[in-house]
Order: sequence, then structure tokens, then C-alpha cells
Amino acid sequence: MRLGGRRKSVIFFLTLGVCLVALALALNVGWILLNWREVALLVLGVVVFVVIITGVVLNTTFLIREIRRNEQHDAFINAVTHELKTPITSIRLYLETLKTREVSDARRREFYDIMLADSARLMQTVEQVLRAGRATHKQRRSNASVINLGQLTRECLELIRVRYDLDPASLHYTETLDEAGARVSGDTDELRAVVSNLLDNAVKYSDKEIDIAVEVATLDERRVALRVSDRGVGIPRAQLKRIFRRFYRVQGGFMKRFKGTGLGLFIVRSVVERHGGRVFAESAGVGRGSTFTILLPRA
Ligand code: ADP
Repeated sequence: MRLGGRRKSVIFFLTLGVCLVALALALNVGWILLNWREVALLVLGVVVFVVIITGVVLNTTFLIREIRRNEQHDAFINAVTHELKTPITSIRLYLETLKTREVSDARRREFYDIMLADSARLMQTVEQVLRAGRATHKQRRSNASVINLGQLTRECLELIRVRYDLDPASLHYTETLDEAGARVSGDTDELRAVVSNLLDNAVKYSDKEIDIAVEVATLDERRVALRVSDRGVGIPRAQLKRIFRRFYRVQGGFMKRFKGTGLGLFIVRSVVERHGGRVFAESAGVGRGSTFTILLPRA
């Protein structure tokens, strides 16, 4: 319903913009035909005409951008509410069962494990939102230390493997390092969030067959690279840059089955840039996998 309303307002403003441009054009042409001798007025008319057209185009672009942004905010609030509500409902259900029924010891332990996993999921969502809030502050990082990026990546890979119960053969890890190793200077928690977000996405958007390649490499004396490649749903070429914006999620029918808040890559980009590095995505298109590369300065 809301989405339909938005689409209608986009169509309305587009039509309005086009009508105004056509009207101004007709007015201007008519005016020129009637007053072709009065050159000074003609010049003035043309200038006013250009100003009106520019104003109309700017106004329409701005309105459409605002409507899109609102749409993204709504989608984000829906996604976060869903991510918060689902584990809370599950925990409540298990607690009620434990309170009202006789449950065997084995079942009880199973319930506790499920509730712990649910609370971990809850914590992860809350931390993601808080991290995205912090990412908008441009202050200097406080807990800088020298980090072995290879080791940090291996730890994150192990966590992901356990969290999604993955077959070890579906994750391939390689290191191509010189003697100094992949040492970077930065905040361990923040860089761990970066690597986890990239690995989480690689698993989530892999669809059925998970085949993820992760590589840490020293490129030259100054830079170390982390590359995460999957064979998943891929990313349309036109959206490769936009996916790093806050709340941005790829548009298209194939995305409907994936849940998410659109914060992960925004956090990745903010943290990487704050560490003096950069991140970019590559994909041959929808259904053809994606590769994310992070370049960080060496310590
Ligand atoms: P979320 O995953 O919560 O939607 P992100 O900021 O992590 O938010 O990602 C933004 C968008 O980028 C996603 O909605 C998805 O469309 C796209 N994306 C991210 N990682 C991948 C990937 N590995 N493969 C395909 N698409 C991806």
C-alpha cells in the first residue's frame, strides 16, 4: 500500500516535471515567435527560461531522491524490527515451555542452546546498529594496535564456519605474504567487524552452493589486500558503488528472499576508510558471484 503510494508520488512528480518543461518550452517558443525583433527581451527570456528549466529539473531530482531515501529508511526499520522480534519471540516461547511443562534434561539443554543462539543473534543486530551509528562520527580511532590481518581473518573464518555449520571444504583460505607479513595498524574490534561482515555476506548471498575463496596478500611495501570471492547471486554492474551507502540494498526481484538492514557494507567502508584504506566490489553480473577487496596500509 505504502509502496504503491510512493510509486504514485514518483510518477506524479515525474509527470509534473515533464509537463512544466513542456509548458516552459511552448511558452518560450511562442514568445520568441511573437517578439523576434526585440532582441534584448529575447536574451532575457532565454536566460529566464534556462533558469526555470534548471530549477524544475533540480526540484524533480531532489524529490525523487528524497522519496527513495524514505523508502530505504522504512525498509531498514522493518528489517531491524524483524531482526529484533524474531529471536525475542523464540526465547519467550522456550521460556514459557520450560515454565509450564515438564521437560527432560536433554531437551532443557537443547532449549538453553537455542536461547543462547537467539540472544547472540539479538546482540549481533544491536551491535551492528550501534556500530553504524559510530561509523558516522569521523573521530580518530582510539584502540590502535598492530594486527596480523591473516590471523584475524582465520579467526573470523572459523567463527563463520561454526555459526553457519559449514562444510570446511566450502571455505578456501590462501595467504600470499612476504617476510614482513600482513601486519596492519588499527582497531581489532572494528577490523574484525569488517572481515565478519564480508564473510557473512558471502555466505548469505551464496544461495544454495557455498564456495567462498578468501585471500590475504601483501601487494607491495605499502599495502596489504584482503579478497573475499563467492559464487553467489552477484551484483548488477550499475549498483557496485551504491551498495556501500547506508541502508542501500540491491533492487531487483532476485533480492526479495534475502533479509538485511543495508548497514554491513556501510560499516565496512567507514572503518576501512578511517584506517586509511579503501574497499571495492566486483561482479560479472547477476548470478555470477561477487568479489570484495579491501586494501589497507601496512603497519
Ligand atoms: P544487507 O546484507 O544487510 O542488505 P549490506 O550493507 O551488507 O546490507 O549489503 C548491501 C547490499 O549489497 C545487499 O543488500 C546486497 O544486495 C549486496 N551485497 C552485499 N554483499 C554481497 C555479496 N557477497 N553478493 C551479492 N550481493 C551482495
